[in-house]
Amino acid sequence: MDKKLLTPGPLTTSLSTKEAMLHDWGSRDKIFIDLNHSIRNSLIKLIDGENDYQCVPMQGSGTFAVESMISSLTSKNSKILILINGAYGHRMKIMCKYLNRSFIEYEVAEDKTHDLNEIEKIIDSNTDLTHVFVVYCETTSGILNPIEEIANLIERKSLSLFIDAMSAFGALPLSCKKIKFDAVAASSNKCLEGVPGVGFILVKTDIIKIAKGNCHSLSLDLYDQWQAMEKNKQWRFTPPTHVLAAFSQALIEHEKEGGVAGRYKRYSNNCKIICNGMQEIGFKQLLVNELQAPIIITFMQPINFDFEKFYNALSQKNFLIYPGKLTVANTFRIGCIGHLNEQDMYDTIDAIKEVLNELQIKI
Ligand SMILES: *Cc1c(COP(=O)(O)O)cnc(C)c1O
Repeated sequence: MDKKLLTPGPLTTSLSTKEAMLHDWGSRDKIFIDLNHSIRNSLIKLIDGENDYQCVPMQGSGTFAVESMISSLTSKNSKILILINGAYGHRMKIMCKYLNRSFIEYEVAEDKTHDLNEIEKIIDSNTDLTHVFVVYCETTSGILNPIEEIANLIERKSLSLFIDAMSAFGALPLSCKKIKFDAVAASSNKCLEGVPGVGFILVKTDIIKIAKGNCHSLSLDLYDQWQAMEKNKQWRFTPPTHVLAAFSQALIEHEKEGGVAGRYKRYSNNCKIICNGMQEIGFKQLLVNELQAPIIITFMQPINFDFEKFYNALSQKNFLIYPGKLTVANTFRIGCIGHLNEQDMYDTIDAIKEVLNELQIKI
């Protein structure tokens, strides 16, 4: 029996998604080419972007996709405002440094969202800004950033919005009809419940069309990847064939579940069960409910709490939780995404109670 992955990814996947990998594919063969094409189309549909967006997959983990998006779709002349309230906002900043992109940052605490008036002020006093980068669900804490409000503001200011929607895509709404953005990066192995190994960027057609020559790197060059894939529907370099086959199956299951709305519903229910159960035990949740995305939940470590012992005891019962990533407090995290249902959540809470008993931890 595999352990249940109560983490931000890689996640528990369905048996049928794993089984989809039990073949070998020729990367230049029609069967694989068609599969790749249908994945790209499905992903565009998930944002209602059929008319004006392109989907370009990129080998690697999610970070590769974000770096490909930034390096390929901005230029040396861009000036970027990065909204930071956790590690993934910081990661985009580090990328901008590596890539020699000019940026400014607006950082708030990991348990807070950005003040929209303050964003507007920063934009108004930095008239050379071209782009704003934001993380949808900041997985560091599990906080839900107000993406629609931010997107509305950025549109009003005629700037280009890029979203890291890694831990949100497929479970939180992201229709381009409602949320105006130029590019979004996500990956196969979070809310879409595929296996890890491929990311993707959804980008407005008129933005990718003018992206030639921006990227410093051949392998991360999104424009080149797009051009090649448009020409003959094939990947430039060895595609992660098995990962894509699993991804295709995972996307079919996503649609069967009712798409984004269906997945949101299951994850929200999972989240509620974990939050209520933990609260009943006496654990304190970092975020107020209004800011809590139904993705991953941060809990404060009680005083004298030995996380490693707690983790190992839970692991022996086949539940894997996640360490905290906050800079300001000792925490741990429990994810509620992946191919897990409400029974798995109740079982998790039961296992936590047993472990606390066995280790004689009083909360
Ligand atoms: C998981 C995640 C990433 C990228 O993660 P990888 O470990 O590179 O797959 C980026 N941003 C956010 C918000 C994430 O949750």
